Amino acid sequence: MVNTLSSAGEAAAEFSTNGASRPHQTESWSPSSWTTKPIKQDAVYEDRKAVEKAISKLERLPPIVTPTEIVKLKASLRDVALGKAFLLQGGDCAELFDYCEESAIESKIKLLLQMSLVLIWGSNKPVVRIARMAGQYAKPRSSPTEIVNGKEIPSFRGDILNGYDVDERALDPSRLVSAYFHSASTLNFIRASLSSGIADLHRPLDWGLGHVQDPELQAKYSSIVASITESLRFMRTVGADTAGQLQTVDLYTSHEGLLLEYEQSLTRNLRKPSSQFTPVTPVTRDVNDDTNGGKAYYNTSAHFLWVGDRTRQVDGAHIEYFRGIENPIGVKIGPTTSSADLLTLLRTLNPSVEVGKITLITRYGATKVRSLLPAHIRTVEGSEYARSVVWQCDPMHGNTRTTSTGIKTRQFTDIFTELKETLAIHKEEGSYLGGVHLELTGDAVTECTGGSEGLKDDDLSLNYTSFCDPRLNEKQALEMAFLIAGHFRG
Ligand code: PEP
Ligand code: MN
Repeated sequence: MVNTLSSAGEAAAEFSTNGASRPHQTESWSPSSWTTKPIKQDAVYEDRKAVEKAISKLERLPPIVTPTEIVKLKASLRDVALGKAFLLQGGDCAELFDYCEESAIESKIKLLLQMSLVLIWGSNKPVVRIARMAGQYAKPRSSPTEIVNGKEIPSFRGDILNGYDVDERALDPSRLVSAYFHSASTLNFIRASLSSGIADLHRPLDWGLGHVQDPELQAKYSSIVASITESLRFMRTVGADTAGQLQTVDLYTSHEGLLLEYEQSLTRNLRKPSSQFTPVTPVTRDVNDDTNGGKAYYNTSAHFLWVGDRTRQVDGAHIEYFRGIENPIGVKIGPTTSSADLLTLLRTLNPSVEVGKITLITRYGATKVRSLLPAHIRTVEGSEYARSVVWQCDPMHGNTRTTSTGIKTRQFTDIFTELKETLAIHKEEGSYLGGVHLELTGDAVTECTGGSEGLKDDDLSLNYTSFCDPRLNEKQALEMAFLIAGHFRG
């Protein structure tokens, strides 16, 4: 039997999308309570025994991230929600197990650090960095099957579920455990690189600008680096770096919480970190309050998880799972999100109105953002959630198009147009755009058109390596950071 998503389709009929209801708040929650709800994009495995085996292995393995780190990120996101910091989140659309390799990881970290430096300069605010890395292995798909060489086969659903090769498309439960180890190895190398000085701000010129070919970009970046170097020199001279904060930076991890069997297995009831790490505002939540012996449920597979555009049904399994975890969480919001559902989502996921707990990741497309975003902003900012969410723009997912030869791509100008429009609309509405969410890679791929290299549709086949959505390459991503920074500086 071929695995399909048909059971999700059947379940969809039972959904109530009535935004007025507040379905979950009084019901008890557990890491597995999602299994009682209708689910989209679910994994129908043939070998349930092998799944149980994988799950019990995962349940024994140590956390990949800790509550202390999660709470630290939450405190930073609180600052973003309050307009005191900016959030940069980026990485591959679909991370492959093969990307767990020194140079691919290093180039992505360096790119995110370079971009954050530019954004700090531009926004004059601290930048919170979250990588779409070390676990971004599960992909929602618009169709359960695709035609390859005239044959209908299951779609590739990400390395945690099946393989891209046509003979590996059956769901394989052993990939659940592989995902854990690839995730842990990736994060291990990120941690080791950071503690070995990859982000030492005393040495910004060592960041390898060689790949920035464009002379204008090179000059702009060099001048920013020069101004930062000067600031750092001054700080050292006056003894402002006594705690060594300039030697490394925080870099958090994130992925879409799609495969709930995996997320459940790494959800642990752990002691809340001591108060020195907790945010100023006390945290009290329905399922994670102090009546639970000072413990709470943390998803220890990543610091930050988001629920995708296809799985955020208010009565569905994914929202049921997400409402119980202590981590900061993102929700993709798009053209199909009603204002009523938006409020129900916030009330279900964040009943105690914790500031910075929820990041609303908006993704409408350059042509739709103007007509759709203002109503969403007014709904949230006119409710009890005013000034409590992080508004983040994902200018990628509403701007995907297919070329005449059938290649999935995105235009650099569409991406920047949605970003600019989003910034302008937040300004008009009196809200704060707190961050950007980008699909990018540190490699010189040719997947999005435009940018200073002037990539055209015909160039896309030169080095198109994505197995899912098209990513900004390193030059396009850095240029995007410059453009955002330039926009901030007016
Ligand atoms: C993604 O972030 O890769 C994705 C699938 O996005 P969305 O859920 O917004 O479509
Ligand atoms: Mn994507």
